[in-house]
Amino acid sequence: MNPVPELVSPSLRAPAPAPVDKLRAAPPFGGRRYNAWNDHIKRRYGGRVQKVSVAAGFTCPNRDGTRGSGGCTFCNNAGFTPGYLDRRDPIAEQIDAGLRFLDRRYPGTARFIAYFQTYSNTYGEFSRLRASYEAALAHPRISGLAIGTRPDCLPDAVLDYLAELAREHIVELEIGVESCDDRVLEHINRGHDHACSEDAIRRAAARDLPVTAHLILGLPGETRAGMLAAAARLSALPLQALKLHQLQLVRGTAMARDWQRDPATVPLFDEQEYIALLADFVERLSPDILLQRLGSEVPPALKLAPHWNIRLSELAPRLTAELARRDGWQGRLYVGDAQAAWPSSARIAAAQATPERTALSSVAG
Ligand code: SF4
Repeated sequence: MNPVPELVSPSLRAPAPAPVDKLRAAPPFGGRRYNAWNDHIKRRYGGRVQKVSVAAGFTCPNRDGTRGSGGCTFCNNAGFTPGYLDRRDPIAEQIDAGLRFLDRRYPGTARFIAYFQTYSNTYGEFSRLRASYEAALAHPRISGLAIGTRPDCLPDAVLDYLAELAREHIVELEIGVESCDDRVLEHINRGHDHACSEDAIRRAAARDLPVTAHLILGLPGETRAGMLAAAARLSALPLQALKLHQLQLVRGTAMARDWQRDPATVPLFDEQEYIALLADFVERLSPDILLQRLGSEVPPALKLAPHWNIRLSELAPRLTAELARRDGWQGRLYVGDAQAAWPSSARIAAAQATPERTALSSVAG
C-alpha cells in the first residue's frame, strides 16, 4: 500500500496560520527564507567547511548481487566523481590532489573533511571501513568525514563506531532516501523500501549522529502530491539536513535509455517548474531541517537531459526570490509540530548571527 495520499492531505488542508505582520517585519532565516546549511556551517565553524572527495574502492549491494544487480536506474557513479579524483591512488594522495584543486578554488576555507561519496561507503568488512576512515582522518588537514551510503548498509556496529569517531571529529552521515514512495523505489530498482530509510535515520540519530538525507525530486512515478508529502514525512524524522536533487539523466544509465526510447516515460522539470516545486516543498518542510543542497550538476559530457538556462549557483537566489514573491518561508505550511510552524525567535536570531558572534569553542573536530 502506498501511504502517500493519506499523508499529504492533512498537511495541505490545514496550513498553519502565518503571523504575517511579524513575517513582514523580519523575514526568517536572515532574509534567505530557508534554513541554509552554509549559514549554519559558517556560524558553527567560523568559515567554510569544504568536502574533499575520496574513493575507497567500496562497491554497492545493489550492484554486486547481494540486494540486486544493475544498480539504481539513475546511477552512474562517474556522474558524482570530481575530475581530480583517481580512485587507484591511496587515500592520502587523493586528499592531497583534492586539496591542490580546492585551495585554488576556495582560498581561505576554514576546514576540510573527507567525503566518501561514490558507491556505498559503509558496505564492506568492518576492518576495511575502519582502515579507510582512519587513513583519511590521519591526514593533517582533515577535520572529519562525510560518509554517503544506503540505509540498508548501516548495521548497529558501524553506527556505534561512527558515533565514537564523532566524539573527536566532524562526522556527517548521508543516507540515500531518494523517494518516500515504495512504488517509486521499486520502479528505480533501489532495493530497499522507505521503512528501511526511516529505521536507519532513527538508529543513527539515537547515537547523536547528524544525518543528512538525500532526496531526488522528479523520479519516474512520483506525483507532485507525493513529493510534497515527502516534505511532511521527512520532517517527522530526526534529520539534521536534507540534500535535494533534481532528476538528471546520466549517460549509460537504465533511466537514460528508457528516456531515449520514450521521453514520455521519464518526464523532466524545466528550471521554472523545479523552482516552483522547490518553494512548495520547502514551505512544507520543518524549519529545523537544514538545506544542504537544492540541486546538483552532472558533468556536461555525461548529462543527457534536462538542459537548463541557469547555473546551479543561481538556484538558491531564485528559490529565495520565489519564496519572497509568495511571502513564504521554510516551514510556513509545516504542521507536524505546532511550535515549529513559525521559527522561534531564538532560531531566527541564530540564523541571523554573524560568524564573529559565534563562539568557536563549539567547534567539533
Ligand atoms: S545510487 Fe548508490 S545504491 Fe544505487 S546503484 Fe548507485 S551506488 Fe548503488
